[in-house]
Amino acid sequence: MNIILLGPPGAGKGTQARHLVETRNMVQLSTGDMLREAKDSGTEMGNMVAGVMARGELVTDEIVIGLIREKLEGDNKGGFIFDGFPRTLEQADALGHLMSDEGKTLDAVIEMRVDDEALVDRITARSTCSGCGEVYNDNTKPIPENGKCTSCGQENLFTRRADDNEESLKTRLMAYYKQTSPLIGYYYAKEMLSSVNGLGTVEAVQGEIKSALET
Ligand code: AMP
Repeated sequence: MNIILLGPPGAGKGTQARHLVETRNMVQLSTGDMLREAKDSGTEMGNMVAGVMARGELVTDEIVIGLIREKLEGDNKGGFIFDGFPRTLEQADALGHLMSDEGKTLDAVIEMRVDDEALVDRITARSTCSGCGEVYNDNTKPIPENGKCTSCGQENLFTRRADDNEESLKTRLMAYYKQTSPLIGYYYAKEMLSSVNGLGTVEAVQGEIKSALET
């Protein structure tokens, strides 16, 4: 099964994708993670996109489609979770073509709905364990006092994303509403869309996604 998790920054796509990786043996394809990796390792492409990402704008379709193309080749029985891709109609069309070229199908698109105020609260309070990707929140799930990640047990690997600040979040939200939200209608028309309430607890959202994938 191949699925897209669609939603604004802070909707919880990464957290839910990690759960699906663990429980369903799926492979998470996060273009945001791929771009951050390129930036951190200082590749030519990484240096090119660094400023765009820091401002919260979208990098070019050509770059992200290229990244996804490389990952789709070959067998993957558990299926793919597209996390943060596609983000434009052009990317959605390209994904459709890439999948059919590989003899694969896109089975479901899950829209995660969260209101803007909650997104700002979540993002400005967010930190992540760079060892395993576990997400923490200063208010609702603070970093443990002993400095050990509750998920992988590694110490002091907590980081805050450079673009998790109010200024770039505004640009990221605007990019979502202008460029990405049309995909909701696009996949609705293709009869692939399910919507879940992204404001519930992590477990409640997991349950809603599970039901959506089983119908
Ligand atoms: P994310 O981790 O998904 O929030 O992505 C972080 C940043 O990477 C975004 O704000 C964009 O600058 C860039 N990015 C990630 N995925 C895409 C995409 N599919 N299209 C364009 N830009 C992207």
